[in-house]
Amino acid sequence: MSSHHIAIIGAGPSGLIAAERLAVAGHAVTIYDRMPSPARKFLLAGRGGLNLTHSEPLDCFLARYRDARTWLEPAIRAFPPQSLRDWADALGQDTFVGSSGRVFPRAMKASPLLRAWLRRLDGLGVAFARGQRWTGWSEAGVLTFRSRDGVDFEAKHDATLLALGGASWPRLGSDGAWATLLAARGIAIAPLRPSNGGFTVDWSQTMRERFAGVPLKRIVLSFGGQSVPGEAMIDAAGLEGGAVYALSAPIRETILREGRAVITVDLRPDHEAALLVQRLAHRRKGVTLSNHLRKAAGLAPSAIALLREAAKGPLPQDAERLAALIKAAPLVLTGLRPIERAISTAGGVAAAEVEEGFMLKRLPGTFVAGEMLDWEAPTGGYLLQACFATGVAAAAGIQAWLAES
Ligand SMILES: Cc1cc2nc3c(=O)[nH]c(=O)nc-3n(C[C@H](O)[C@H](O)[C@H](O)COP(=O)(O)OP(=O)(O)OC[C@H]3O[C@@H](n4cnc5c(N)ncnc54)[C@H](O)[C@@H]3O)c2cc1C
Repeated sequence: MSSHHIAIIGAGPSGLIAAERLAVAGHAVTIYDRMPSPARKFLLAGRGGLNLTHSEPLDCFLARYRDARTWLEPAIRAFPPQSLRDWADALGQDTFVGSSGRVFPRAMKASPLLRAWLRRLDGLGVAFARGQRWTGWSEAGVLTFRSRDGVDFEAKHDATLLALGGASWPRLGSDGAWATLLAARGIAIAPLRPSNGGFTVDWSQTMRERFAGVPLKRIVLSFGGQSVPGEAMIDAAGLEGGAVYALSAPIRETILREGRAVITVDLRPDHEAALLVQRLAHRRKGVTLSNHLRKAAGLAPSAIALLREAAKGPLPQDAERLAALIKAAPLVLTGLRPIERAISTAGGVAAAEVEEGFMLKRLPGTFVAGEMLDWEAPTGGYLLQACFATGVAAAAGIQAWLAES
C-alpha cells in the first residue's frame, strides 16, 4: 500500500485515535493543534475520574444518543465500549466498572493514559505541530494556519481530518471558531449550544447568600415525562450538577422556545407522600416549621430552602400540602448557563453534510469526527465513546477514500 500524508487538525481524543489508526496503517500523519500541548479537555475530564465509557447493554447505550443514534450507530458498533476498554488496557491502563455501570481507568485520571498514548504515537512516527491554529483554506484549496507568533503558512496534504471539538471550555482549545469557516463553504452547521450544563434560577437573596455551593443530595428531578435520580448543586446563579445535566437537552430546548422551563424536584424520593403526611401530621408545640421538616421529613437545610423558593411565599402548614410540595417542588429555570461552562456542546456539522466514512460531501478529502458533529449525549462515558468511535470510523473512511482515489 502506498503511504499518504494526512493532516489531522485537533489533538483531542477523536483526532489522536484517528492518527494512531492511520499511522499504524503506514501513513505519514501530522497533528496540528492551536494549543501548546495536546488533549487539554481530555486531561480535565480526567480530574473527574475519566469516565471513558459505560458498561450497559449496547442497545441501551445507543439509545442515549437519541436522534443521532442512527448516524452514530455503525461507528459505535464497529468500535464499541469493550474495544475502548481493550485499547486502554493495551496502553497499561486497565479499566473497571463503577457501581453506576460507568467505566473508569483504575488510575482514575487521564494523565498516565495520555502519556502512554503519546509515546505510542511518537513510536509510530506521528508528527505534532503545536500552537498552530487552522484558519481555513487558500484560494487553491490548501490548508492555511497561523502560528502562535502570528506567522501564516500553508500545508498541503492528501487528506484532512477536522477533529476540532465543540465550543465549551474554550480556554482548553476548542472554541467552535471552525463553525464560521465551514459555514462559509456552504456546510450546514446546527447552532452550537451548551449541553450537560446548568440553568439560571431567580433565587431569593437568602438562597443566593446562604446556599450557593451547597448540594441537594438524593433527589429526583423530573421534566417532560422524564425523571432522573441524582444530585444537583445550588450556586448563586442557578442550579447545576449530574441530575440537571441528564435533563439538559429537553430543558434547553424548552427554554429556547418558551423562555422558561418548570422542573419538579422530589426531595424525599425514598418516601411515599402518604408516609410523609403521617410523619408531618403531628407537630409539637413550640417547634418551628423548619425544625419539624428537618426532624419529621428528614430534610436538609438546603432542601427546606428549596421548598421555600418553590412555595414563593409562606410554606403551607398542613401535612398534605407540605408532603405534596416535598414530593414535587416546582422550580422555574429561566435561562441557560453559558456554553463556556458546559461539559459538552450540542449542535455542529449536520449529519446530512457527511457521507459514510465521515467525509464532508461538499469537500471531498476532508473528514470530520468527534464533538464537532451534531450529536449530544448525557454524561456517563457516552461523550468520549462517540469521540473515539467516530475518530476510528473517520480513519477508516480516509483509508477507503485514499485507496479509491
Ligand atoms: C469538565 C469536563 C469533564 C468531562 N468529563 C468527561 C467524562 O468523564 N467522560 C466523557 O465521556 N466526556 C467527558 N467530557 C467531554 C469530553 O472531554 C469531550 O467530549 C471530548 O474531549 C471531545 O473530544 P474531541 O476530540 O472531539 O474534541 P476536543 O477534546 O475538544 O479536542 C479538540 C482539539 O482541537 C483543537 N482545535 C480547535 N480549534 C482549532 C483550530 N482552529 N486549529 C487548531 N486546533 C484547534 C483544540 O485545541 C483541541 O485540542 C468532559 C468535558 C469537560 C469540559
